[in-house]
Amino acid sequence: MSKCLLCGEEKEAVIVIGEYSICTFCEKALTITDPKKNEYSEVVDKLRPLSREIIEASLRG
Ligand SMILES: [Zn+2]
Repeated sequence: MSKCLLCGEEKEAVIVIGEYSICTFCEKALTITDPKKNEYSEVVDKLRPLSREIIEASLRG
């Protein structure tokens, strides 16, 4: 169990990247999120630290 990056709850993660994880519920929410809605930019904001982590991890090799 690890803390979900999006909802902040300790759930079984379906996506794990570095120290970040996303639970099944949020993974589903991501796939149905409409880019035209405000909630999409909210999700993107929450994912920003995740993308930074991925870049840093790749730089570390
Ligand atoms: Zn979640």
